[in-house]
Amino acid sequence: MNVFAEKFADLKILRYAVPGFEALDLNKKLYIYHLSQAALCGRDILWDQNNRYNLSIRAVLETIWKTFKGNRETESFKSFEIYLKRVWFSNGIHHHYSTEKLPVGFTETYFSELVAKSRWRAFKQPSGTKFEKFIASIQDVIFNPEKEVKRVNLDPDKDLLDASCNNYYKDVTQEEAETFYAALKTSAGFEPISFGLNSTLVKENNQMVEKVWKLEGKYGKAIQQIIFWLNKAVQYAENDLQKKYIGTLIQYYTSGDLALFDQYSIDWVKELEGEVDFMNGFIEVYGDPLGIKGSWESIVNFKDLEATKRASILSENAQWFEDHSPVDPQFKKDAVKGVSAKVINVAMLAGDCYPATPIGINLPNAEWIREKHGSKSVTIENITQAYFLDSMNNGMLEEFAGSSEEIERVRQYGYLAGNLHTDLHECLGHGSGKVRTGVSTENLKNYYSTIEETRADLFALYYMLDDQMLHLGLLPSMDAAKAEYDTYLRNGLLTQLTRIEPGKDIEESHMRNRQLISRWVYEAGKENNVVEFIRSEDKTYIRINNYPALRELFGQLLKEIQRVKSEGDFEAAKQLVEDFGVKVDRPLHDEILVRFKKLDLAPYAGFLNPVYELKTWPCGTVADVLVTYDEEYSTQMLRYSKDYGFLPMVND
Ligand code: ZN
Repeated sequence: MNVFAEKFADLKILRYAVPGFEALDLNKKLYIYHLSQAALCGRDILWDQNNRYNLSIRAVLETIWKTFKGNRETESFKSFEIYLKRVWFSNGIHHHYSTEKLPVGFTETYFSELVAKSRWRAFKQPSGTKFEKFIASIQDVIFNPEKEVKRVNLDPDKDLLDASCNNYYKDVTQEEAETFYAALKTSAGFEPISFGLNSTLVKENNQMVEKVWKLEGKYGKAIQQIIFWLNKAVQYAENDLQKKYIGTLIQYYTSGDLALFDQYSIDWVKELEGEVDFMNGFIEVYGDPLGIKGSWESIVNFKDLEATKRASILSENAQWFEDHSPVDPQFKKDAVKGVSAKVINVAMLAGDCYPATPIGINLPNAEWIREKHGSKSVTIENITQAYFLDSMNNGMLEEFAGSSEEIERVRQYGYLAGNLHTDLHECLGHGSGKVRTGVSTENLKNYYSTIEETRADLFALYYMLDDQMLHLGLLPSMDAAKAEYDTYLRNGLLTQLTRIEPGKDIEESHMRNRQLISRWVYEAGKENNVVEFIRSEDKTYIRINNYPALRELFGQLLKEIQRVKSEGDFEAAKQLVEDFGVKVDRPLHDEILVRFKKLDLAPYAGFLNPVYELKTWPCGTVADVLVTYDEEYSTQMLRYSKDYGFLPMVND
């Protein structure tokens, strides 16, 4: 299998292998197969959540792509292809990372030509609209720079809902939404449901109404299909607890009752015996500037038994890590509960996990469930490995690393150390610490995600250089920890800037957190020259002069960040994020972009899914599930639109 598939704009498309799939028994393969079908059925939900015009625009662009009779070899047509590929990648018209509207590399005149020379006979625009009017409205959304500007806008000086053009709210101001959900929360007890997670909030006749995403509600046509495949999958479940939570998940999708989602999540956290696992639902809230609405996603996976041993060592020692952290004792957990950790290989990525995908997962998100029942934490081995394989030969390391020793260390230990960082972040970091009674994620508002990611990263960084890593057999030598420190600061201070457009600031939570940490330790260690910017032949590099001192700085910052979270100190969170995480050093940024451009690499990557096929005996019974990896990007996207396109173009 070839990891690299293709490259366009700022993106590259990779493939992941699914090691161990062939060796699974047929029952498990069938379980994975049916869960994968359920995963693919929710695709349109995410597209519509991201923006109300996305499904219409996709249908128009795909029709042009399939039926355009003009010259397909022109520069203009190639630009059109790239635009469509970018829309596919972003699950809509906004960049998946910056969330700004994707630039269009062809003219409106050319768009009219594309429309004129394509076949629309089978095309069904939303009922009640004339075709010409429909196309004109689509054209306006694509080309008009004033329309649908940004999917998630976190500018604190603006009404966040007004400034963001996701599809989670309609005719509702930020204040109205905040008031609406605050009222629901005050009347809830200590185990509140995740109010608003599975609905669109709209104003009708001056009343706030939630349009719930459920079988007989909004997104019902896609949810019906998800339920259909979950019902099939349940027959192959490995144990009773899996059967139970799939049943609860189906009831939740049917009724929209968020208490059932909590029940499902609790059982899901407890289920640790099975080899196959999945998530399927409205889960992460990054797509909503208020952090309330869950974007739809699904991942189907199974255990990597060998690598899981590594993560188990961490979770077995979770209490030791909690007790020895530099955090103020009042903010430590007396008993770290149920930090389960495992390493998985994904078998299917969908919704908000496709094609851009996380490398680790820690769920559920509801704070009280995490505290009372624990959380499940996974590192995705086959994705990490695909990234690493791809990265060893692209020239980035040689261009940005400060010395040949650093390069050598990363080549030798980078993969191992990176995985251990992710394990520490996911298994221990997020699950550590406790907050004061009454403090919740909302206290930190739009800074919460950044602070939380900062906390988990610092926990990992602090322990990376601890002797305990050697004692537990997790690292072969301290050079591996050094490789991680080098890599982290190189990324936080230099290379992640390749993802930022000239003149722009940092918006995305994880990127903010990495710069926050890196800048903070640089400033705090300046006097003792702990970390240094060095210049050589007009190029900037990072040099760490004192690794143990750097570790102490990570510890100091961890202590403060935990205090900020535990006390819900909004002002301190704001100051840390705004002072260290947001602003970009312009001259440095320009230099990095020039150096990066010369390498001709794509800053973002995403993954194609494998194709699973049932092989049946002549009598009709299933003999095996076959997996193949050779599907091309456009083919996969068009197939998904055709086979899993369940939602109508306009869906309000
Ligand atoms: Zn995280």
